[in-house]
Amino acid sequence: MGMLNGKKGVIFGVANDRSIAWAIAELLHREGMELAFTYAGEALESRVRPLAESLGSKLILPCDVTDDRQIDAVFSTLKKEWGGLDALIHSVAYAKKEELKGEFISTSREGFKLAMDVSAFSFVALARAAAPLMAGRQGSMIAMSYYGSEKVISNYNVMGVAKAALEASARYLAADLGPKGIRVNTISAGPIKTLAAAGISGFKNILDIVEAKAPLRRNVSQEDVARTALYLLSDLSGGVTGEVLHVDSGFNIMGI
Ligand code: NAD
Repeated sequence: MGMLNGKKGVIFGVANDRSIAWAIAELLHREGMELAFTYAGEALESRVRPLAESLGSKLILPCDVTDDRQIDAVFSTLKKEWGGLDALIHSVAYAKKEELKGEFISTSREGFKLAMDVSAFSFVALARAAAPLMAGRQGSMIAMSYYGSEKVISNYNVMGVAKAALEASARYLAADLGPKGIRVNTISAGPIKTLAAAGISGFKNILDIVEAKAPLRRNVSQEDVARTALYLLSDLSGGVTGEVLHVDSGFNIMGI
């Protein structure tokens, strides 16, 4: 008997089988959750569809999170097909490649807006659409963050600012939705080689530093993050909301 039998969840952010969202999906499925997947644009459909189908998923829907109509379409389909929802997984971020190198001070207005819209505001928009479906179901929402929200990480630049906004948004959402029994948390994952990470200049250097300095002397895997997602989406974490949970081999606790 899985921990999530009978529960239903929607996942935003699978691009391929290295995506953090994919590791989360596999584990949630193993624990009995029925899943709906979204993909950001036609180009990704051919990658996401076979993965989702391999987990028996029937709801595989387009959703660019900057488009309110697509968000509405996803949640009206979920309402029609499922009648309710237990879990929302936000594993989405984007900044232009040129903003993820050099100095933060050079960030363009357009680049700043785009990174904030895709990587932070989208969680607010998805939470607003998901909350009515979670009424009376002890729903749980999670989003993926990174330590660049708290400290300056070379080249992370505008994405660090967007992650700070994402974490703050999660706290405000937790306050709004807590009275309805809905919990909202973020996972601050250590660096992991994925498509999104490939866009960050000097990423390999970050992996090497974590391995050398983190208390656990290793980098984390997608599966490490997925197990924490399972905790946050299950009733094991029933009393936890508004938190930023670090899954980073302890890197964030280190001073000199
Ligand atoms: P990934 O490239 O596999 O996932 C990023 C996802 O964002 C992709 O599926 C992409 O399609 C989606 N996306 C981008 N723009 C979108 C849009 N407009 N609409 C809808 N979806 C859109 O990489 P990942 O590393 O698995 O990233 C997932 C999350 O984890 C991101 O929020 C990322 O910032 C965060 N994170 C990653 C790391 C890391 O080192 N990889 C560390 C901490 C946090």
